[in-house]
Amino acid sequence: MIYLDNNATTRIAPEVLEAMQPYLTEVYGNPSSAHSLGRQMKAAVERAREQVAELLGAAQPSEIVFTSCGSESDNWAIGGFLEQNPTRRHIITTRVEHEAVRNLCEHLAQIGCEVTWLEVNERGELNLDDLRRALRRDTGIVSIMMANNETGVLFPIDEIGRIVRENSDAVFHVDGVQAVGKVPINLKESNVDLFALSGHKLHAPQGIGALYIRDGVKLPPFIIGGAQEHGQRAGTSAVPNIVGLGAACELARKFDEHERIAVLRDRLETALLDQIPNARVNGTTDPAKRLPNTANISFEYVEGENILLHLDKAGVCVSTGSACHSTTKQSSPTLRAMNVPHTAAQGSIRFSLGRYNTEAEIDYTIEVLPGIINKLIEMSPYDEELKALSQKAKRGKG
Ligand code: PLP
Repeated sequence: MIYLDNNATTRIAPEVLEAMQPYLTEVYGNPSSAHSLGRQMKAAVERAREQVAELLGAAQPSEIVFTSCGSESDNWAIGGFLEQNPTRRHIITTRVEHEAVRNLCEHLAQIGCEVTWLEVNERGELNLDDLRRALRRDTGIVSIMMANNETGVLFPIDEIGRIVRENSDAVFHVDGVQAVGKVPINLKESNVDLFALSGHKLHAPQGIGALYIRDGVKLPPFIIGGAQEHGQRAGTSAVPNIVGLGAACELARKFDEHERIAVLRDRLETALLDQIPNARVNGTTDPAKRLPNTANISFEYVEGENILLHLDKAGVCVSTGSACHSTTKQSSPTLRAMNVPHTAAQGSIRFSLGRYNTEAEIDYTIEVLPGIINKLIEMSPYDEELKALSQKAKRGKG
């Protein structure tokens, strides 16, 4: 299989598995136990905390708390802040957040919070003047993602943090799940107060995440119980997964092939746009404003779901928009917010590359996809306009 769905999840890196192995077999104590096995487990957790802190550029490891996933980290950050500050119920977020933030904010709006939804333009970018205008005295929390899961568009979190700090007392939460391991992050130099990450997006196992809580920022515990994670999240620590996340962060810190991945992504994007006339990229193509690994391309008048199935048969794994709504038939709220026409949004495919992809895999995808699109256009119940497009595509290819 050629795996081009790394924004959905990633393969566990062999180095990560190797680091985890002892904690799945011979080192099995409870990290809260005082005996030597317990102490070894505890030391492994603290080492992983240092590795995560280092990748994020946190001032100290104690600012990292382990959770079970990115969604938990997002929910804890926003829900916890509101629980702690019941009078500051104005939230600012964007129209293009992942469901973990978007659906939570919709829920909070239903139970009495006021939510300002920042719009994006057709390239998926924010207008920071909208943020300046939205900030108020009673704004409690601003939640803005660093990198979009569907389009790979990056939001300038350093600049956003400065604006939040200069114009309000709000806490700044960043959903960093798609950014970690793909672009540099330096939280100590930023105004970010809370930052969510998820292990399975960077070659650690599923079921482990973390929340960065800046020193001095107060959140109530997410799970009340024992003293694990300094009493902030009770429950026996998932040591093998925590060790895996630490190892994945170290691997990501040393990874120096982002440029190679960007070149492969650009090769794919350029070839598909050249060969398929009804193809368009969703999101900015400015390399400074996008992740190196993501290409969201719409093939107008064709069903994304059909493209996905044909690619799957040909041995290539991709996603239609975000994996989380691949089972619903709705077009993506992110693409709708970007004003992508319905006919194009329905035919959008997200290609998300990773460290294991090769040039040969990209070339194979470029070889098979134009034929699939042609076939789907010919089978399409749409009118003659489409048949004409298909003919044009064939000429382009020939
Ligand atoms: N935030 C973003 C931007 C994501 O892409 C995802 C997962 O796709 C999440 C949050 C949720 O992460 P998890 O799957 O670890 O709950």
